[in-house]
Amino acid sequence: MASAKYVFVTGGVTSSLGKGIISASLASLLQSRGYRVTIQKFDPYLNVDPGTLNPYEHGECFVTNDGAETDLDLGHYERFLDVPTSQANNVTTGRVYQSVIEKERRGDFLGKTVQIIPHITNEIKERMQILGRTGDYDVVITEIGGTVGDMESLPYVETVRQLCWEMPDDCAVVHLTLVPYLSAAGELKTKPTQHSVKSLQESGVFPDVLVCRTEHHINDSIRRKLALFCNVRKEAVIESIDAETIYDVPQLMKDECLDKVVLDKLGLGYSGEVDLTKWEEFVFNLKNPKDSVTIALVGKYVELKDAYKSISEAFIHASSKVRCKVNLQWIHSETLDSNTIANTLKGMDGILVAPGFGQRGIDGKLEAVRHARENNIPFLGICLGMHASVIEFARNVLNYDGAHSAEMDEATAFPVIDMMEEQKKITNMGGTMRLGSCECEVLKGSIAHAVYGSDTINERHRHRYEFNSKYLEAYEAAGMKATGINPKTGLVEIVEIPEHPWFVGVQFHPEYKSTVANPHPLFVNFVKASLKHKS
Ligand code: GLN
Repeated sequence: MASAKYVFVTGGVTSSLGKGIISASLASLLQSRGYRVTIQKFDPYLNVDPGTLNPYEHGECFVTNDGAETDLDLGHYERFLDVPTSQANNVTTGRVYQSVIEKERRGDFLGKTVQIIPHITNEIKERMQILGRTGDYDVVITEIGGTVGDMESLPYVETVRQLCWEMPDDCAVVHLTLVPYLSAAGELKTKPTQHSVKSLQESGVFPDVLVCRTEHHINDSIRRKLALFCNVRKEAVIESIDAETIYDVPQLMKDECLDKVVLDKLGLGYSGEVDLTKWEEFVFNLKNPKDSVTIALVGKYVELKDAYKSISEAFIHASSKVRCKVNLQWIHSETLDSNTIANTLKGMDGILVAPGFGQRGIDGKLEAVRHARENNIPFLGICLGMHASVIEFARNVLNYDGAHSAEMDEATAFPVIDMMEEQKKITNMGGTMRLGSCECEVLKGSIAHAVYGSDTINERHRHRYEFNSKYLEAYEAAGMKATGINPKTGLVEIVEIPEHPWFVGVQFHPEYKSTVANPHPLFVNFVKASLKHKS
């Protein structure tokens, strides 16, 4: 195929309708039909990337192999498709403007007045086609963040208009909308959808498909009404009913023939039905567990579950694989101290200490590590959670009084977690974190080696501070081993306590690589260890 086809997914009426899940579900249906698909997200905010956004505001920051800090929807894309994304898959208005302004400063526009149309829209247009032009994909799905009608979305909607105008046979527009149920009237209401479609049409974009989020089935007469007033084929009115889990959505979209309607519009062929056997098996195992475990997730952003999205999804994947329901107990680390710990963590079959930044809540995390270590409860520490395990060991086993991470206490006598010299230099130049995929050599005979079944692994990073190798010998003599080492830098990537049944701290973020097709082995084994502990 010469060039890719494009599907644009817009949202109307309200935010949070699940554009990311619909995009990922459509993509997985097309992928099951043998098409090579990728999904990209264009976000209308002015931050250059979501790396600096507060997790409370925007949920987790997802990290790609190439070290891009991206929107959490990219996590859904990877989890559904099992295909890695990259920097090119997430673009924000901030990045678009930054690049246009840099070009202006360089004189690239030859003295022309630089304007939203055409300069910003041209920049967006270029970026929307980068992945399509690689030749790696048959279909590129572009999710437009925000809600149509918002001022911020206008340049994106205009760009979509232009692309549809330039390539009428190669583009499809899917509009996700809300069809609310008014209980007083006992009716589903189509008016909000009509208005949001009208607002798109006023901008010159004519949706080909309506995906209608609804709490009740939409009957034939509503489908006809929506089709007539919104100018779409009746078959292109797709019901998206509230689902028990997001992993039900591909099946629901298949039943509604979303893939066929989109392929028809793009002029792409298909035959027969999509084969979702593997996917259905995953969902069946998820919904029919044979066991259950309770695992504590100790973190400081627990009020907003989206802040740990990839971790909770990785547990869902593991739970299907092990056929063991995982009851995640979200525990605020600030509530943990030596008085509350035993009671709060009572009955936990496993304890996970989450990633994070800064001082707040760190003492509670240290208490949680201690509780897991002393009571032989399976423990997984991720990034800051691994740091906590190293600090706790220093204080309570090595008797390093006041040992800490230089992140929390620059003046500590025992900086067991510290910023490495090289990293300090980078900091001064502006790029501050170790980001993206790094190689790690795994020690034979360790839990990590058994879990991965491999001598070398690649995992994604997002942090500034590292295990301070100056203390490694003392740690190993006292019973905490480095079982994963970065072959290029010698940095410690995994620590374990062989005396303990299952105690693993990882400097990287395994959760970013867990997918439906490949649940992450660390999570799978952590759940198995927790189950073993329970019985
Ligand atoms: N705050 C720690 C660091 O910067 C850990 C980061 C994390 O948990 N992602 O090194």
